[in-house]
Amino acid sequence: MIIITRPDITDDELDHLRERIEAAGLHTHLSRGEHRTIIGCIGDETKLMELPLRSIPGVESVMPVLKPYKLASREFTVNRTLVRVGANAVIGGKEIAIIAGPCSVENRSMIMETATAVRRAGASILRGGAFKPRSSPYSFQGLGKEALKLLVETRAETGLPVVTEVLDTRDVDLVAEHADMLQVGARNMQNYALLAELGRVQRPVLLKRGLSGTISELLMSAEYIMAHGNHQVVLCERGIRTYERATRNTLDVSAIPVLKRETHLPVIVDPSHAGGDAALVAPLAFAAIAAGADGLIIEVHPKPENALSDGDQSLDFNAFIALMARIPAFAVAAERSFAPHSQLAEAREFTGAAVA
Ligand code: PEP
Ligand code: MN
Repeated sequence: MIIITRPDITDDELDHLRERIEAAGLHTHLSRGEHRTIIGCIGDETKLMELPLRSIPGVESVMPVLKPYKLASREFTVNRTLVRVGANAVIGGKEIAIIAGPCSVENRSMIMETATAVRRAGASILRGGAFKPRSSPYSFQGLGKEALKLLVETRAETGLPVVTEVLDTRDVDLVAEHADMLQVGARNMQNYALLAELGRVQRPVLLKRGLSGTISELLMSAEYIMAHGNHQVVLCERGIRTYERATRNTLDVSAIPVLKRETHLPVIVDPSHAGGDAALVAPLAFAAIAAGADGLIIEVHPKPENALSDGDQSLDFNAFIALMARIPAFAVAAERSFAPHSQLAEAREFTGAAVA
């Protein structure tokens, strides 16, 4: 249930209203906008039926939230959430955010070289896997802690904040100490122990949609992280498993506008894992922006044919630069913008979480 307050509600009235709801055993979540404030109530709503809510001073209206996700639902907040990554990157604003880098961190020179190239091309966040969720136990599993150290060095050298996947609850603190954003991979979307652990860290989370996860299940996974205290969640559509075998997965373009309708959280798209083919990355990326995505996460490798993981879908530097050159036109068509360095200005203006 959400309670919309009157524009002239006083702080004392707001406190009193929250106390009444909390005394009934529910949690409250406050979202303050310029013109109105929303109090989201979580818990046994039948207890609220016993309260004369509409007659408590400052209340304008009371509305049920029928969806199973509450904190993640669009109704619960006044503004869309902006997620800040590191000092300078923002996801969810007018600017399209670009995350790029190799599938896996393979060695020092390749991550440095890739970071420098993607930054020059306009990416604002570096990706690079340290712990890899491979389908085969015999495939390269990532450099683990050594890769985390290389990511820290690369950030110091290039200024790009880094996102990397955490696979195991036991590694959450370690990864959070090194990375600016923690990725939950598709295979872990419903690993509730991991999601709960990520709720306790002070780092934004990039939550990927599971191979067979529905949109509602993705939102419930975001709700897990949020219910445990971390509201800095970015959702990622990365293709789902369908009967179609011509592509690695099927990019669910409809998920983008549906998610934007259902939630205030930013939504980005991974065209690399969706298509599984370097030749498909650019068209899928453009489709994602046209459909309203807040950003992209793209695999880039100095020499894809030598990549230790996901070489087939990785772009080389020239292909990435060519893709980036076309993004501004798609961004403008979607009433967004993309000017590689303007993110800095947006980041400076942004002084805190939009969701109280
Ligand atoms: C990745 O980002 O390299 C990855 C393994 O992605 P996903 O979890 O979407 O398969
Ligand atoms: Mn990959």
